[in-house]
Amino acid sequence: MSDSLNFHSHDAKAAILTLNPTQYLGFQAADSQLFTVGIHPWDTNGDQSALLEDFSKCLRGNNIVAIGEIGVDPLRGADIDLQYALMQHQAKCAEEVGLPVVFHIVRRFDLLINLHKELNPKQAWAVHGFRGKPEVVRQLAERGIYMSLGSNFNSESAKAIPDHLLLVETDDRPLESIGEVVKAVAEARGCSIATIENICSKNLKNFYRL
Ligand SMILES: [Zn+2]
Repeated sequence: MSDSLNFHSHDAKAAILTLNPTQYLGFQAADSQLFTVGIHPWDTNGDQSALLEDFSKCLRGNNIVAIGEIGVDPLRGADIDLQYALMQHQAKCAEEVGLPVVFHIVRRFDLLINLHKELNPKQAWAVHGFRGKPEVVRQLAERGIYMSLGSNFNSESAKAIPDHLLLVETDDRPLESIGEVVKAVAEARGCSIATIENICSKNLKNFYRL
């Protein structure tokens, strides 16, 4: 069950593993393993043309089910304008090749919402490691953007996320910890663990089109 629930992980054994483009190009994948690939906002300080070249090589790579994680983080990485430009470029490419997108957004949800308005994408978008306030939940839900909860989240927000947009993840923590996340989300929403498992595995399949 846990494999079918975990929306976002950096554990090399994850069923759906998140890598940056350079890692993906050198990765020895297990047969059934799936990937999300993108230039992380923290990695935006490097040589831009090399980053973009590796990214473009990945776009039609094997077993890629989404672009990501991409996004903006004002606390780390390149200056925010450059981070935005890279996020915009990668999201446009995702739309062109028909892949959903996983975002890492710190504070600047306004930039994500601007980009969603600008591109009006047909592909599904999700914010992983979501810690935003209930007001942000409302704004994202209005645009149909999924929200994935990890080990830390705002419990009022967890309650406010519509069923069809809720996801759970371990991110950089051990895969086994998905059970703790599910339990915490169930407590915050006042429902059973089985309910969260059902909702989140269905949403994960819908998002990645599995
Ligand atoms: Zn991550």
